[in-house]
Amino acid sequence: LISIFWFRRDLRLDDNAGLYHALKGEHPVLCVFIFDKDILDKLEDKDDARVTFIYQAIEDLHNKLQKLGSTLLVLYGKPLQAWESILNDYNIAAVYTNHDYEPYAKQRDEKIAKILKEKAIPFNTYKDQVIFDKNEVVKDDGLPYTVYTPYMRRWYSKLASFYFKAYPVNGYLQHLYKAAPTALPGLKEMGFIKSECKFPGKHYEEVITDYHEKRDLPAIKGTSHVGLHLRFGTVSIRQLVQTAFGYKDKTWLNELIWREFYMMILDHFPQTIDHAFRPAYDRIKWENNEAQFEAWCEGKTGYPIVDAGMRELNATGFMHNRVRMISASFLSKDLLIDWRWGERYFARKLLDYEAASNVGGWQWAAGSGTDAAPYFRIFNPDAQTKKFDPKLEYIKKWVPEYADFSKYPKPIVDHAFARDRCLKAFKAALAK
Ligand code: FAD
Repeated sequence: LISIFWFRRDLRLDDNAGLYHALKGEHPVLCVFIFDKDILDKLEDKDDARVTFIYQAIEDLHNKLQKLGSTLLVLYGKPLQAWESILNDYNIAAVYTNHDYEPYAKQRDEKIAKILKEKAIPFNTYKDQVIFDKNEVVKDDGLPYTVYTPYMRRWYSKLASFYFKAYPVNGYLQHLYKAAPTALPGLKEMGFIKSECKFPGKHYEEVITDYHEKRDLPAIKGTSHVGLHLRFGTVSIRQLVQTAFGYKDKTWLNELIWREFYMMILDHFPQTIDHAFRPAYDRIKWENNEAQFEAWCEGKTGYPIVDAGMRELNATGFMHNRVRMISASFLSKDLLIDWRWGERYFARKLLDYEAASNVGGWQWAAGSGTDAAPYFRIFNPDAQTKKFDPKLEYIKKWVPEYADFSKYPKPIVDHAFARDRCLKAFKAALAK
């Protein structure tokens, strides 16, 4: 009789809540990972860098677990089928895993919980991805916060060192199931090729002190680039919060709280994954001009700050937060293109793509979200450039032809005209 620990977006052995609980249980623990065909088949790019990143993290776990005399059982298929085969091959006492809050993941887990229940196998899931999950930081009346600042205050008032203490997995690794080596399915077999993308490291600590001064300047590396590691759990949120809490300036920690805020919002309001948080905004009559959308995707709008951002995204899988805000505002307000088109494009390209934060960021920019600025506040790309890239360093890096006006495309829309059109469209939708 064995227990199973199921890895999903928590790809590390250290400080892993579900793994710790599994190892502390009665039975030896076999670790499992499933390359989910339902997710992989939807990816458009065969060299999707995130698949390579996950693959490398899985190889690393596989090696580490084999060195410990155990293994990582890696399957490729639809989760239900994969579980049927695991249940067939092993005599299972209990299954352990960590909570996953995205709508797709919640549905998947319900199905797995059901088949386990039919066999009277407990499905134990733990909080690991966040410090506080959806019902831990709520208003006095028990309802969720829908505005960040009061949420953040309550978050801090609840924080005690207990919540960011690491789970000491290392002390229990002798409870791993002793297993013969197992093979990994190849990337090719799953229809992918290795990406040559250079993945960011986990050097978050070096940015914390100056973060409040540097975080808005896209030309310098003033932010941590740790988003990818948070997405796949190759770093523990408790470790980050513990480190950040030790610094006097809490600006960076506040960003980690934004992450939890959006995760909490998506968990409570799953419909906002593709609907406006403020329903009236679903009535906006978008222009949805496909040629302009294409120009935006390619970084050829004739607005250099927008183009620089899109080119950074296309080339590296990263875009600076300030520029994400500018380019999202430009798409939804200046081009009057449905924010969901932009959200899907970011989802395809961002290494750190996180449904909750991406939808949150896009709805913020489109004005339809929780904390959104009033719709009549529309970013002016040139004014944003003067403020945040005054020496045009970021622009020159990503749009070298900007220096030669004859080579650089003309604006695909006039900002003053677009601003006026946007105000009319938003007003009409909200007046009904
Ligand atoms: P740092 O500035 O070093 O911050 C550290 C961590 O805090 C980030 O990795 C992230 O986990 C969290 N964080 C920071 N800012 C925010 C924020 N505004 N909202 C939520 N969490 C935040 N973030 C994502 O993680 N995934 C996304 O898919 C995503 N899409 C976005 C789309 C738009 C339109 C906008 C405006 C923002 C989006 N963000 C997203 C938020 C933010 O831009 C990124 O988290 C940040 O740029 C990542 O860079 P970093 O890792 O260097 O972050």
